[in-house]
Amino acid sequence: MQIIKNYVNGQLLDPFAGQYIDNVEPATGQVYSKIPNSDEHDLEQAVVAAEHAQKDWANTSVEKRAAILCRLADIIDANADMLAEAEAIDNGKPITLAKNVDIYRASANIRFFAQAITQFSSESHAMEDVAINYTLRDPIGVVGCISPWNLPLYLFTWKIAPALASGNAVIAKPSEITPMTAFLFSKLCIEAGLPDGVLNILHGTGPSIGGPLTTHPKIKALSFTGGTATGAQITKVTAGMFKKLSLELGGKNPTLVFADCDFEDTVNNVVRAAFSNQGQICLCGSRIYIERPIYEKFKLAFVEKVQQIKIGDPLQTDTQHGALVSKAHMEKVLSYIELAQEEGGTILTGGNQVTLEGRCENGFFVEPTVIEGLTNHCRTNQEEIFGPVCTIMPFDTDDEAIILANGTEYGLASSVWTNDLKRAHRVAKEIEAGIVWINCWLLRDLRTPFGGVKSSGVGREGGLEALRFFTEAKNVCVKY
Ligand code: NAD
Repeated sequence: MQIIKNYVNGQLLDPFAGQYIDNVEPATGQVYSKIPNSDEHDLEQAVVAAEHAQKDWANTSVEKRAAILCRLADIIDANADMLAEAEAIDNGKPITLAKNVDIYRASANIRFFAQAITQFSSESHAMEDVAINYTLRDPIGVVGCISPWNLPLYLFTWKIAPALASGNAVIAKPSEITPMTAFLFSKLCIEAGLPDGVLNILHGTGPSIGGPLTTHPKIKALSFTGGTATGAQITKVTAGMFKKLSLELGGKNPTLVFADCDFEDTVNNVVRAAFSNQGQICLCGSRIYIERPIYEKFKLAFVEKVQQIKIGDPLQTDTQHGALVSKAHMEKVLSYIELAQEEGGTILTGGNQVTLEGRCENGFFVEPTVIEGLTNHCRTNQEEIFGPVCTIMPFDTDDEAIILANGTEYGLASSVWTNDLKRAHRVAKEIEAGIVWINCWLLRDLRTPFGGVKSSGVGREGGLEALRFFTEAKNVCVKY
């Protein structure tokens, strides 16, 4: 059984108190590794290491920092197969998805921010013949990064890369549900020659290490991705501590399908948007609104396509739909399917747990599920399920579609499918979301701002937004 270790001051360490928790493989339901359940003692050690390392790291030339990070990205690429397999085992996601999306993006994140920091220039503002202002952007110091289980290495690196590139030392906590690739990543950081203490990775649960990390007085900024309730908790416990907070939270994303869309392409992509990673991507479109003239035709084509999704062992390269991340999460998803029926919904396809034969007979598999006949304000359409469950509903006008799309507390992402350019722009402007995709989904340019509105979060990551978040701006005003 593999024993995961913390990464502190360049060393792979056991937790101070010797406490471990089980790590379960979702596709088999079996415990296959142990994770340190770190606590305040481990945190203190990491904070001391990070504080000690940070000044030298900040004073290391941008070119050198970028070179070390690019080397790390290259090492991730060289180990892509190993990391993809580890991600598929740890998370239950199909190995092909892990390789093409998760691991590909992990190295892309690091390479992107390594390059971005070399182009990060500051502004100057001339006051005619009176003075000139210029802005210094210094690293914050020691920062915390906390990530969830759905895109483990992808989201972990999305936070760490800009924090490190801009000269901070980092204390990072991956999800205790999917810790493996963060552990493997710590070994790759050592191989890449990342200076000791610049990045420290502590494993464990929210209460044991996540909470202490958020309230540690020496950690001046926190980048958090996870559930809205946890984001609210972090906001509460850090109130009055004047930390910089970036909160990337839950979603309940609308997909708007207009009658003039490219039909085939839209069906294919709306299926992908609803069910990729078993519906466990914060950007998945789980509320699908279809313009009435094509509602029945779209429904038939959509359901037929969903029924073709191949459910199977995440380690098989032709599997398209793997296991849900945990037993508890599977039970939550199944309870929502039950709720949808109580609320008057009709299941068009799916709705059941799946038992596979062989190695995966005890895995946490649930069929891709499509439900119709629900109102917009029922719980199924208001609460984040975060699984392979979507609802379809008709609409009649653009204005109605916008009202339906905006009719939840969330505002993370959305997609709009139409060939009418004017409508696309108008709807994009009216939708309350951080991201609107027109005739595409999950097409990401890492330079663009990423984040949500309403209960989906506060702040933006991505590109310059992330570099700005992880630096403190100082205005220097020089009188002529
Ligand atoms: P979660 O909030 O339960 O956990 C996220 C991380 O926070 C984990 O590492 C967890 O250990 C830690 N944590 C838990 N309690 C904590 C506390 N009190 N203080 C500090 N840290 C704590 O979320 P999850 O179940 O791991 O992830 C699923 C959620 O993440 C979904 O709501 C999904 O929409 C959201 N998500 C959002 C985005 C985005 O970019 N907006 C991306 C991916 C996932």
